[in-house]
Amino acid sequence: MTALDETHDPVRRCWVPGADGHAEFPIQNLPMGVFSVDGDDPRGGIAIGDRILDLKALAASGLLIGEAQAACEAASGPALNGWLALPPGERSGLRRHVSDLLWSEGVLRPQAEEIAGDLLVDASRATMHMPAIVGDYTDFYAGIRHAENVGALFRPDNPLLPNYKHVPIGYHGRASSIRVSGTDVRRPNGQVKGPDDAVPRFGPCARLDYETELAIWVGPGNALGEPIPIGHAASHIAGYGLLNDWSARDIQAWEYQPLGPFLAKNFATTVSPWIVTADALLPFRTERPARPAGDPAPLAYLDGEEDRAAGGLSIDIEVFLSTPAMREKGLAPVRLAGCTTRDLYWTPAQMLAHHTSGGCDLRPGDLLGSGTISGADASSFGSLLEITAGGRNPVSLPGEETRTFLQDGDEIVMRARASRPGAVPIGFGECRAVVLPAPEMGR
Ligand code: MN
Repeated sequence: MTALDETHDPVRRCWVPGADGHAEFPIQNLPMGVFSVDGDDPRGGIAIGDRILDLKALAASGLLIGEAQAACEAASGPALNGWLALPPGERSGLRRHVSDLLWSEGVLRPQAEEIAGDLLVDASRATMHMPAIVGDYTDFYAGIRHAENVGALFRPDNPLLPNYKHVPIGYHGRASSIRVSGTDVRRPNGQVKGPDDAVPRFGPCARLDYETELAIWVGPGNALGEPIPIGHAASHIAGYGLLNDWSARDIQAWEYQPLGPFLAKNFATTVSPWIVTADALLPFRTERPARPAGDPAPLAYLDGEEDRAAGGLSIDIEVFLSTPAMREKGLAPVRLAGCTTRDLYWTPAQMLAHHTSGGCDLRPGDLLGSGTISGADASSFGSLLEITAGGRNPVSLPGEETRTFLQDGDEIVMRARASRPGAVPIGFGECRAVVLPAPEMGR
């Protein structure tokens, strides 16, 4: 595991106005994304305060040399897959050079500040795009309390299936329908059959839900047939984001047996636009959460010294809802819940090592979802299915509205923050989308 360096130094200041003390993007963060302005070409950028450092402009500036210049060029196109493919040391090198460039006391400050008009864009003017082309997307199920809560709704006597504590459960999701934050999500039509229905019917999903997840962005990856050992897994994770795994619960309940989720999940997945790098999150790594007494130890291929010591992450995620009526009245979004990645049963490295353990190849830009993250009670549950106990306990909203599941026009916003004493807190940006009505059914 790489050590903390000057880029994490809590006293490091930045010459970009508003960056110091910024709630999400101080100089200690430097997340990577893809943006455009006024319909021009999408290119890589780094969030700094309320600005975006244009990596295409930086690559053309002559301010970088050698490996850092090459890494900047790899990140200056319309998708960050080339940057994700770089060895971790080269990605870290670009981060160190950019940090120095933006540092108040950096030697290149005068040259950088002189062309700040070319290098920096107001984030409010930018349109964010998908940070990478996602070739494959896999959704895990590592939130054990979510697994218990959902299991209890379906199997009150036997909530957690016997494999759960031995094998990281996941399924192969759909990459084509992943969209960046801000893209509307259309309610799906699908086949549903209620418990009292004699036959299924086809129509709009009536139990539309969100799932609060951590996005894990794959770096270099592996060749087919060559598993990534747990000890190397962390170096294949380039960064993290937020992921909303939209879920049609009524469609899911009818279709999921015996092969698992299909159309209930494949109509949309929303990700936040910024890849918060594994480097930026180093101060917020924790020991792998201890397993309760009596739980099985992970098998050797899922157990490593480094993962035990620092495989965990401490990230707090919050979920907000606003309805059309709330927005009309100028009411602020209501906070539905807050959860933490400390409640994941499997670490990202364990998920990645497991994914490749049978020989499956991961490629730069592949995306893993952690699975819905839930805590001990309803204030920390990661989905409406859990918060409302399967729709039995509606959520009260300002203006005398209630919700069991999402209605058309509802907007879900996820935000996240990593903090700990002695480190500058960093944020993730937003993972946001509005639900649109289901399409008219053609014949
Ligand atoms: Mn999920």
